[in-house]
Amino acid sequence: MAAMGDDTDAEVIDNYRAVRRRLEAALGDAGRPTGSAVLVAVSKTQPAERIRPLLAAGHRVFGENRVQEAKAKWPALKAAFPDAELHLIGPLQTNKVREAAALFDVIETLDRPRLAEALSQEFARHGRRPLCLVQVNTGREPQKAGIPPEEVAGFVADCRGRWAIEPAGLMCIPPADQDPAPHFALLRELALRHGLPLLSMGMSADYGEAVKHGATHVRIGTAIFGERDYG
Ligand SMILES: *Cc1c(COP(=O)(O)O)cnc(C)c1O
Repeated sequence: MAAMGDDTDAEVIDNYRAVRRRLEAALGDAGRPTGSAVLVAVSKTQPAERIRPLLAAGHRVFGENRVQEAKAKWPALKAAFPDAELHLIGPLQTNKVREAAALFDVIETLDRPRLAEALSQEFARHGRRPLCLVQVNTGREPQKAGIPPEEVAGFVADCRGRWAIEPAGLMCIPPADQDPAPHFALLRELALRHGLPLLSMGMSADYGEAVKHGATHVRIGTAIFGERDYG
């Protein structure tokens, strides 16, 4: 791996600007207003030194998939950039709910009743209340987290009624080996049906398609930071 420094920083910023341009072009093609989809820069596995230049360049919204990793990187970054907005995009264990509620601004992976209950208890105890998106398993994949499409109505009703959580929207990760378009269409249809404004869908490979289907948030890692190095 090349040494970190000005060159890799410049590359990340170049990639970021290119993604922003492509995102705006996709919005234009879809007849949507400029800036109507939020770019969530997925910084999982990236060290803080690689994230900082993007913050310095003015970007504010980031996604992380692990609570422990985010806890190691983000308190210092948030101290330096207090208006940074951090999204949790990976599974949340109930024993990490307290840490997650303290650190994240948006939890995109509300994916089961037990977690809704734990979040509800945590929100009642403490003031901080991140926005929550319900993760939907649009492909009904057994190994993937999320509420199956046919259970979304019941789950959203329980969030509102039993757990006093108003979901801000829906999130999905379509099956890797399928055309994502029907999954994006399904997610939008579910969001409309249940009066949920936010739609987090689309990653590096398919965010243009997601924008056509009304994504309000696209989660982009590789196209900005390059291939992840899991070491
Ligand atoms: C890693 C990840 C992304 C980003 O994927 P890229 O293909 O690198 O853009 C988006 N969403 C979730 C849930 C992820 O875990």
